[in-house]
Amino acid sequence: MSTIQIDADLHVHTTASDGTWSPEEAVRSAKESGLRALAIADHDTVDGIQPGQEAGNREGIEVLAAVEINTDFRGSQFHILGYLFDGAADKMAAELQRIREARVDRASQMVDKLRDLGIDITLDEVRDEASDGSLGRPHVARVLYKKGVVKEIQEAFDQFILPGRPAFVERYKLTPTDAVRMIRESGGVPVMAHPGLTGQDEHIRELIPAGLIGIEVYHSHHNPAVSRHYEKLALKLGLLITGGSDSHGPDSGKPIRLGRTGVPYERVAQLKEAGEKLCGNAECGEQNEQKYR
Ligand code: AMP
Ligand code: FE
Ligand code: FE
Ligand code: ZN
Repeated sequence: MSTIQIDADLHVHTTASDGTWSPEEAVRSAKESGLRALAIADHDTVDGIQPGQEAGNREGIEVLAAVEINTDFRGSQFHILGYLFDGAADKMAAELQRIREARVDRASQMVDKLRDLGIDITLDEVRDEASDGSLGRPHVARVLYKKGVVKEIQEAFDQFILPGRPAFVERYKLTPTDAVRMIRESGGVPVMAHPGLTGQDEHIRELIPAGLIGIEVYHSHHNPAVSRHYEKLALKLGLLITGGSDSHGPDSGKPIRLGRTGVPYERVAQLKEAGEKLCGNAECGEQNEQKYR
């Protein structure tokens, strides 16, 4: 349990991707937790942001635009968060669209593999579970759970859809560098998500020339020693400090409470200040780096 003041949870998933609550419900939960600000950071989609911001206006909660992009490099997964990009981030929207389409193909392949194992599941069931959201393994897991194939959502991952299990399918992924560049080109602030989960600190350093600006120092799966380590690293490398719960909502199989992890408002102000210094087109990428660094 961290002792820092928590005014903002900068990492929350909603039904726009694999969270179980709507953006409106996430905002209400933020309000109940006494937060001042919330960032909706769905996997590969920005669809939850506008409804979240409308709810935020009604409830008096500041809702920041964010996205989480899962990338792959040298066999390791790096998750890159992007904050405060331009509303008209066309290049980003087009790339995210491509990633989401690839997710549908991949879900279909997972369903085929499950059917080959004799399990009765269809792509439509998985799509229904996701509503119109970005399709992910958690949706497959929830269908298996609801149909009684597994007794817990976690069991679906462990038995079927983790790497090495029989229904796992890789998916199309950007490299971390591409994700960082894409966020910068959209005027956004790229942040390395939960680095404690990979522990590959040298890669944080390598992403700075591409435009990385922050580290998610506080996260539900970082213990206090890990957070301290990344706080020091951020200070040493001149990177911003962010934090969030990575809550996927109630009934998600990962019951992490929204607002339990986060940052004081000062960190939000720093993030916004950084965002304002960046301009939103490819030509100003280099100029931004000089201006900001
Ligand atoms: P995908 O992007 O479709 O590969 O799904 C990734 C999501 O699956 C993560 O964001 C988590 O929500 C969930 N997830 C990944 N690994 C596990 C695991 N071992 N147990 C439970 N959920 C997991
Ligand atoms: Fe997720
Ligand atoms: Fe993540
Ligand atoms: Zn996340």
